[in-house]
Amino acid sequence: MKTPAIKFNERGTRLLQQAKLREAGEQFRKAAAAAPRWSVPWFNLGLVYKFQHSWPECLRYNQKAVALDSADAGAWWNLGIAATALGDWREARRAWRGYGIDIADGDDPPLMKLGPTPIRIDPTGNPEVVWTKRLDPARAQIQNVPTPASGRRYQDIVLHDGEPAGFRDLGGVEVPVFNELELLYASPFSTYEVIIEASAKEDRTALTRLAEAREIGIDNWSALRMLCKLCSEGKPHDAHHPQPSGDGPLVRYGMAAQDETDLYALFDEWRKERPDCLVHQMECVFEAE
Ligand SMILES: [Zn+2]
Repeated sequence: MKTPAIKFNERGTRLLQQAKLREAGEQFRKAAAAAPRWSVPWFNLGLVYKFQHSWPECLRYNQKAVALDSADAGAWWNLGIAATALGDWREARRAWRGYGIDIADGDDPPLMKLGPTPIRIDPTGNPEVVWTKRLDPARAQIQNVPTPASGRRYQDIVLHDGEPAGFRDLGGVEVPVFNELELLYASPFSTYEVIIEASAKEDRTALTRLAEAREIGIDNWSALRMLCKLCSEGKPHDAHHPQPSGDGPLVRYGMAAQDETDLYALFDEWRKERPDCLVHQMECVFEAE
């Protein structure tokens, strides 16, 4: 015999799966009213507000859920996400500890070295998977030069979800892809599209090396691979999506610099080393604010 709270909660879960957030919220509220000591409807309310990016409510309902059930790992995680979105670092640290991560108390943002992590930026618009430096369980800094359609730039810091949404290969190891939730910090780097003529592999590796030495973001956009949704959210395979070589002689690069003159200086240095190379075109495609 199902209690009313269980019935309301099940109804809410079905509505949530259909992305009917308001109706789902109503059912979870009824479930919580019917069984206020049961943590699950509170966690689910937190989920509704997470989907809406309403962080104060998401924080509050997950606090309620973990107060009732301190073993609810999902609620600790979503509490960590909400606290991070709000910049409440003390609460974020408490949440990660509650989840089981060894992290000290404090009022400053955690800085953990969690390794290179693929993040799907702009997941509901123009999704693009980029490599990031993960700063803590919910924050990642973009290390690629994203295309301007994504609305993101090199070194932006994004808030991301904790549920794997696909896998990518990192030196033979499969690592999970996480979906971005929102932009937390907009970087001072603008995005440039640069068309260069570089026939030899050495020309291109020299450009990359010199750019990195100058802290200029660089990516070969001619080698970008477009994936279907199924592969992107699963595991990309070469048979379905052959990897473009990006070999040139004409190559399209995405570059990121804080000032256009940084790029001119880079190209001068590069052409001294590789005199046969040419810069055909350079355009700022996404200016920093
Ligand atoms: Zn595919």
